[in-house]
Amino acid sequence: MSAVRRRMKRDAFEAGPVAPAGAAPFQRAAPAPPAILERNCSVARTVRILSDAWAFLIIREAFFGARRFETFRAALGLPRATLTERLRMLTRAGIFHQAPASGSAKRLEYRLTREGLDLYPSFIALMQFGDRWLAGAAGPPLRLVHSCGCESRPFVGCSACSEAITAGEVTYRDGPGAGKAPVDPARRSRRASDPAQFERGRPSSVSRALQIIGDRWSFLVIREAFFGGRRFDRLQAELNIAPNILTDRLARLLGSRVLERRKYQDAPERFEYRLTGIGRDLYGPMITMMAWGDRWLARGKPPLVLTHARCGRDFTPLVLCDGCRRPIDSRSMKYRMCYDPGAFGEPEEEGATAPGRL
Ligand SMILES: [Zn+2]
Ligand SMILES: [Zn+2]
Repeated sequence: MSAVRRRMKRDAFEAGPVAPAGAAPFQRAAPAPPAILERNCSVARTVRILSDAWAFLIIREAFFGARRFETFRAALGLPRATLTERLRMLTRAGIFHQAPASGSAKRLEYRLTREGLDLYPSFIALMQFGDRWLAGAAGPPLRLVHSCGCESRPFVGCSACSEAITAGEVTYRDGPGAGKAPVDPARRSRRASDPAQFERGRPSSVSRALQIIGDRWSFLVIREAFFGGRRFDRLQAELNIAPNILTDRLARLLGSRVLERRKYQDAPERFEYRLTGIGRDLYGPMITMMAWGDRWLARGKPPLVLTHARCGRDFTPLVLCDGCRRPIDSRSMKYRMCYDPGAFGEPEEEGATAPGRL
């Protein structure tokens, strides 16, 4: 990839374009704030893309086969200007490319690039998390069938031994890209997408998962919890976060049962915040997104190297089919919808990038 393209990729998500009406607003901070350092993190780089609700929804519809502007529009009901702007941003970022539509040399359509298609395992890992914890009485919206023929419940596994990964069995050390880098103040102050925006369109376990971790600060608090950050002061110092924002995000994460509060001292009373079973289960989706960020955004220098304690080897997280234990991708998976697709502007196009419908 050329230096120019790389620069554009970064700019596409970090500079924060002017948002048209109806879009998630991007705010610029007042000029010349002091430089704030942030841990280099491939998950953060990936979450930065997916935490923009519109960008996420557009990529999701592409996995359902949408390629044309009007198909995206029908499925999501976005204002034209917003959709145009986000498609442009995602194309600049290398997630989509434009190609002539089949049967019409004049009309262009949006197709996922290899990089975009490679987001599929992250979507599936988030979907499985949402299915397990957030599906509610209606149950999971989709059922997956793998090319091996089994109804699949994919899991995040170890590339060395193919066993399922849990947070407690992984150790980590600094990789070649470890360290901290200054944060662009514009990015820091960008207002998060309203969590309700993720619910637009079809019912989706990925959307439900992103409502929890798609907010930048919530995500960072969860990440620090995986690094052992439990106490207010440490979280505040590590993240350079305003106390009122930290209080708010901790309350949200307690509300969604990702964290629980435990008293660790009586006089004065002090509490710490620990990951619950739900919170620990976010580990799989997080390291899957990390692997994507390592592959596409880390310039060959992953900030973190993971070791699987069970097999003793360094590994890359893979999303594996629980039937055949092979890695899944968008071409090897079909799905069955457990809802009425007509109610959500289901695209008619069937593309090579779409998991075939049953
Ligand atoms: Zn292993
Ligand atoms: Zn399989």
